[in-house]
Amino acid sequence: MRNLRYRQLLANLIVLIFYFLSGAINGEGEQTGTSKGKLRVPQSDKAWETLYLVPFDNVSTKVLHCIGGAIKMQIPLYYTFMEAERMPMEAFNPARRQYLSTALLNLLSEKFMAPGRRILGVCESDLYVPELNFVFGEADMKRGVAVISLSRLHQEFYGLPPDEKIFMRRALTEAVHELGHTYGLPHCRDPHCVMFFSNSLADTDRKGYRFCKRCLNEFAKSFSLRRTD
Ligand SMILES: [Zn+2]
Ligand SMILES: [Zn+2]
Repeated sequence: MRNLRYRQLLANLIVLIFYFLSGAINGEGEQTGTSKGKLRVPQSDKAWETLYLVPFDNVSTKVLHCIGGAIKMQIPLYYTFMEAERMPMEAFNPARRQYLSTALLNLLSEKFMAPGRRILGVCESDLYVPELNFVFGEADMKRGVAVISLSRLHQEFYGLPPDEKIFMRRALTEAVHELGHTYGLPHCRDPHCVMFFSNSLADTDRKGYRFCKRCLNEFAKSFSLRRTD
């Protein structure tokens, strides 16, 4: 257990260094409003839920560290990593060459869900639901489970040169958005709020990973209700 905590502290330090170097920690130049920021919930030294980050196949550990560390700065959650899962072949649709995201939610829920946990799966494969061409992610509020796909967040997907800073910011935005759904937040009409519905990558890039004031309050309420200590 001590070893695990040490690894998480080290991971946080790496994330802090990464964000310090990338200038992303204060969102400089990307958020102009003063109402956005860290979640204001009744303060406690203890987080009261643990976010289980579950990579699928070849998702890089660096991405998971960045997502986990940056989420922790916004939301009072512990986080931990699981071993990589294989993408379930039964979720693959050969005609669409995509995976059904709802099937991934079912797998994550059945395998990892327990009281006091929140689950976020991260995969590189493209995801879909039957009504849409693709989804960046999907969440199940009742079960507290979410999944995001990194596939369309890479610049390379659009024939552009790789840009790690842009990619990491997108991954974080999608992760916070889906986690927001697991806490009961609906889509928001503010195009600069993380809970705005992303119809395209332009929406994701514009809105960023922070909650607007209204969603922040809703989130804090949901968090308070779940608090158990
Ligand atoms: Zn959504
Ligand atoms: Zn909002």
